[in-house]
Amino acid sequence: MKFGGSSVATGENIRHVGDIVTQTAKNGCKVTVVVSALAGVTNSLIEVAEQAKRSDEKHIQAFTRELLDKHLKVIASAITSKPIRKDVTQITEKTIAELEKVLTGICYVGELTPKSKDYVLSFGERLSAPIVWGAIKDRKLETRYFTGKEAGIVTDSNFGEADPLMNFTTHLIQERLAPLLEKGVIPVVTGYIAADQDGVVTTVGRGGSDYTATILGVALGVDEVWIWTDVDGIMTTDPKIVPAAKMLPQLSYQEATEMAIFGAKAMHPRALEPVIKENIPVRIRNVFQPENQGTLITKEPDANAKKVVKAVAMIKDVAMLNVSGAGMVGAPGSYAKVLDVLGKNSINVMMISTAASEASISMIIRRGLLGRAISNLEIALLDRGGLVSDVSTEDDVAVIAVMGANMRGTLGVASKIFTTVAKNGINIRMIAQGSSELNISFVVKEKDGEAVVRAIHEEFKLDKI
Ligand code: ASP
Ligand code: MG
Repeated sequence: MKFGGSSVATGENIRHVGDIVTQTAKNGCKVTVVVSALAGVTNSLIEVAEQAKRSDEKHIQAFTRELLDKHLKVIASAITSKPIRKDVTQITEKTIAELEKVLTGICYVGELTPKSKDYVLSFGERLSAPIVWGAIKDRKLETRYFTGKEAGIVTDSNFGEADPLMNFTTHLIQERLAPLLEKGVIPVVTGYIAADQDGVVTTVGRGGSDYTATILGVALGVDEVWIWTDVDGIMTTDPKIVPAAKMLPQLSYQEATEMAIFGAKAMHPRALEPVIKENIPVRIRNVFQPENQGTLITKEPDANAKKVVKAVAMIKDVAMLNVSGAGMVGAPGSYAKVLDVLGKNSINVMMISTAASEASISMIIRRGLLGRAISNLEIALLDRGGLVSDVSTEDDVAVIAVMGANMRGTLGVASKIFTTVAKNGINIRMIAQGSSELNISFVVKEKDGEAVVRAIHEEFKLDKI
């Protein structure tokens, strides 16, 4: 079971987590718990680390004092037993004292490397896990807490986005956690953080506790991985846009991967990778509505769900970048050059489309990266033998993604989507459909985005799903 940041945001919520774990254990299940940092803590650690890098020492003590206060308040309301509370308080004080030293070190050196940044970021989960451990112990269950490193999650040294060495990890987890589970002990493991082969702390990417949970699930060979969050599951669309949006009871791994990135529950993009190989089901559930079954993600989509389109999402905060030039026509490697410039400048391309005329290429990137993209493309390409003659942009656009596994091979889906858009008098700026046919994405002006989502939700009767 993985509990996200909002599930452990307050002492009351952590008591609730304790109840869920206890109930499941009493029902005869062996449970391993994975926890995120308290809501907001990881973001605040990034901020303070950046400040420390600028040799701004005065913020450090104020920050650590506030962080200690926040956690002590949560401890006081999450844990009833005095001796347990005392233990957890001591651990918390010690951990925060260590954080203060690390931040001071960064401040003196004036440098924040990916390695030291991961070390700072590891403190969020290192502080939350002992509290959850205390809340479970409070209920007279046997439990132990571990950092990802102590549990045995070993990754490559790609700091900030590390990936597990699954064979080695499985070996260590089997050695360290499996015997405890056999004895009825509940391991509580920090999400998000692990260590490389040299024992240096790594993180597996933002939102990475989901990934930790599936890595542990595979290493332990569990029956199911449950991701407890603050929404009912994966929805047909954002309920803020369409109040009649429905929770999807069952999805395939492929569908969930497409939807997780855009949906109300943003899942770590690589979280499903380990479980897909081992065919372990994942369930997304709402901590605040534990009686709901949530969304079950399995290999095969629900046999009864003949629905072609299952979800529609709008991705805001993006911009369109058009690169054109007669020099690109019939010139092998010209697209590669454009993408190479973006890649080298750490600009991720979310969507891409080119026509067979080859005279232009359109790409969707995060809006905040637009300036960097244009300037670098200009420097690198504009005056290089006339390959590219123009770089133009539109920053008031949104991507609409329409998703569903049964779209593959079904005729008329695209025409139905685009007719619906046209009937609403809305112009489409760019289109892409991968050959997987799981997802049709297109670009409209941002001001039209919500209307398009509503129209497609209605046209495909997603509120009846
Ligand atoms: N605390 C980490 C983050 O905010 C990991 C997680 O919440 O899953 O990114
Ligand atoms: Mg989080």
